[in-house]
Amino acid sequence: MSAPHQLITHRNLTLMLTYRCNAQCAECGTFSSPHDKNEITLETGLNSINWAHEIGLKQVIFTGGEPSLRWADLVTCVKHATGLGMATRIVSNAQWAKTPELADAGIRELQEAGLNEINYSTGDEHVRFIPLEHVLNAIQAAVNAKMPVALMFELRAKSVVNEQELLDKIAALAPKSEMDTYFTFIRSPWMPLKPDNIEDYPEGMYANKSNVAHRTGCESVLSNYVVQGNAKIAACCGLGMRTVAELQIGNALEKTDDGKNPLQKAIEEGESDLFLYAIHKIGPEKIVAWAAQKDPSIQWENMYAHRCQACMRIYRDPKVKQVIIDHIHELMAEMVYGGLVLRRFEQLAAEALGAAEAPETAFSHYVT
Ligand code: SF4
Ligand code: SF4
Repeated sequence: MSAPHQLITHRNLTLMLTYRCNAQCAECGTFSSPHDKNEITLETGLNSINWAHEIGLKQVIFTGGEPSLRWADLVTCVKHATGLGMATRIVSNAQWAKTPELADAGIRELQEAGLNEINYSTGDEHVRFIPLEHVLNAIQAAVNAKMPVALMFELRAKSVVNEQELLDKIAALAPKSEMDTYFTFIRSPWMPLKPDNIEDYPEGMYANKSNVAHRTGCESVLSNYVVQGNAKIAACCGLGMRTVAELQIGNALEKTDDGKNPLQKAIEEGESDLFLYAIHKIGPEKIVAWAAQKDPSIQWENMYAHRCQACMRIYRDPKVKQVIIDHIHELMAEMVYGGLVLRRFEQLAAEALGAAEAPETAFSHYVT
């Protein structure tokens, strides 16, 4: 069985065994907390991995919620994906690494199951629930085991967790050559989930007219297909994704009657949505900027540092939605005639335009 079609060259499966989390961060992108009981069964998790493998996906990313709260099932799933020849990555808050010994034992078990890579997060929100020491234990255990490890740091203008002090502590965990080989530090804006709330970020982080041309398309949508803790399948693993109906494209528990598996059906559904393709290729910031050209009452400059917040704006602001509805042909034409879209959509866009040639559009200069 092959993948639906070849428009998107890289797809993977993201598996959320649970939406539950030991933490309760404000503005958690998945709305996770100890009270969220949404979980899929181990059987659904294993089925999802089988479906991904059947259609040629090469990687499974385990996230949540906090995936380590389902430790035994997590290990089983990693082992299963590895047995099928798939690469694996876990995204965790490191709550399990309470001591260096527990961290070493955890990493050893995951590595024996075949885990290739692990990512952690920390910052002002995370440390309210997971002490920094646990994260440091987990990083050290991974580096000692020669497992690639990344730390995502919550970026805000003012932070109680001092970034440089944190980096100094991390640097002391292992010899520099090993840290350079196995460790990656990622700063990621901690974003509000409401599109009109403006977070305080360091200078230069916000999208505005001077830099929007350099904002890229969303690499997650139509690439990271997510079987969520509630068994719904989403077209991306973005922050706030859980609340956007348009990003929900299937259900892992629904029976299919045409021989295609639920993940394959969902991928077909996602890839038949031209607007998701526009987000993938053009990116939400450029789309919001383009909408503001059409309707100058749309304010957007110096509001967004994280692309998912700009994306929430697209889906929740009626004015932005209206511009897109009114000018969708132009947006699609830009993708087609800008050489950004592949053959499958050319015919659809030509039909929508009712013309053989697309005109120059106001959107043109936003596309790099
Ligand atoms: S640790 Fe992650 S999943 Fe858990 S509440 Fe915080 S942001 Fe959400
Ligand atoms: S930008 Fe939008 S489509 Fe992309 S990951 Fe974020 S929410 Fe999902």
